[in-house]
Amino acid sequence: MKMKTLTTMSLLAIAALSAACTPKASLRPDGRPGDHLTPTERLLVSRAPATQPLKLVTNDVPAGDVFLHTASLSVDPRDPALGHLQARMQATVDLEKGVGIAAPQVGVNRRFILVKRLDKKDEPFHSYSNPSITRSSEATEVAWEGCLSIPAGFGQVRRAQSITLRHQDQDGRWLTEEVKGFTARIFQHEIDHLDGVLFIERKEPGELIPKDEYRRRKEEQKQRPTSESEKAPKT
Ligand SMILES: [Zn+2]
Repeated sequence: MKMKTLTTMSLLAIAALSAACTPKASLRPDGRPGDHLTPTERLLVSRAPATQPLKLVTNDVPAGDVFLHTASLSVDPRDPALGHLQARMQATVDLEKGVGIAAPQVGVNRRFILVKRLDKKDEPFHSYSNPSITRSSEATEVAWEGCLSIPAGFGQVRRAQSITLRHQDQDGRWLTEEVKGFTARIFQHEIDHLDGVLFIERKEPGELIPKDEYRRRKEEQKQRPTSESEKAPKT
């Protein structure tokens, strides 16, 4: 078990080093063929079946904290390796009962995220390559957030109520979309991950609430009606 952890952390360190050695990639406006996952990143992703969750990078480990604070490089949305990464990220977020996940949370510093579309019928997960926010509403609201990479607990964060999202589809075409409500919050949280920013750096003053305590409060809330903004799924 210890060896496995060490091996994983070594791979993370190599992946981070590899990313750091590709200086121009992060400056590109869009994902191009040169932005395919590196051999090290492909190894990290492909060494287990698509149904197997990836190990989460968490900020309670020094190397993990450094990794999570590293800005991600762009990705080529046509990279064949992305399908396997997407499947394993999905397995990971499903296991954790989260509503969003960014590639750096599983050791791949690439601009690729999955978001549960709470604003769509049946609330499906969608993947997004090279997402960015081109407009944020002046109107903001505060709500609880948790993070798969932050075991310490939940905190309250002020975010824009609506955003304009820009991203590339699987063929590399750029798309824009207006997103509102808690789904807009998930996008803001996940895109922050791509810039090496964690919600604890944006949270309102005060200590984090331990996850057990948060769940107890949530149970209490179930006794009365809640608005969408009071939900705090992990992302
Ligand atoms: Zn997160």
